[in-house]
Amino acid sequence: MDLEGATAAAAQLLSALGLDMDSDHRRDTPARMARALTEMLRAPSFEPTTFDNAGGYDELVVVDRIPFFSLCEHHVLPFIGEATIAYAPKDRIVGLSKLAWVVQLYARRLQTQEAMTQQIADWLVEQLDPKGVGVRLRAEHLCMSLRGARAIGAVTDTTTNRGVLADDPARREEWQRRLSS
Ligand SMILES: [Zn+2]
Repeated sequence: MDLEGATAAAAQLLSALGLDMDSDHRRDTPARMARALTEMLRAPSFEPTTFDNAGGYDELVVVDRIPFFSLCEHHVLPFIGEATIAYAPKDRIVGLSKLAWVVQLYARRLQTQEAMTQQIADWLVEQLDPKGVGVRLRAEHLCMSLRGARAIGAVTDTTTNRGVLADDPARREEWQRRLSS
């Protein structure tokens, strides 16, 4: 990322918007804006540690209420919410914190909620080759609540189901039940 270029562009944007940036508080605002955006758009690096499913764990692993925010690729405004991730293991299980990290991995970029939901599921399928995966994201999009329709508090709910969480009626039903509890 070009921080200097982003700072200059932020200064230009603010001035094009007719804002007077010549005060003690505002002088460094373009640089702060640029730093804040680069921080929000920089993907974290982490080791996707997986382990042998030595005990043969055969039930769903569900991690709920993983907080995230991302930036919508249409308005570059935040959407803020929670993720629920479930998987049915086969031979490998994943360190639980990695499920929070993978949400961060796909959140810190320009996104749509729909794509992010699928990317998280794809990552799990690729890393673990599990029997099934389910991902649900619920988020408030500030581009919808602070402008346009101004639907403050409206929540967008997206899910994707793979493997047994899509195809096996019992597993699918269990996952749906977990989502509504
Ligand atoms: Zn948007």
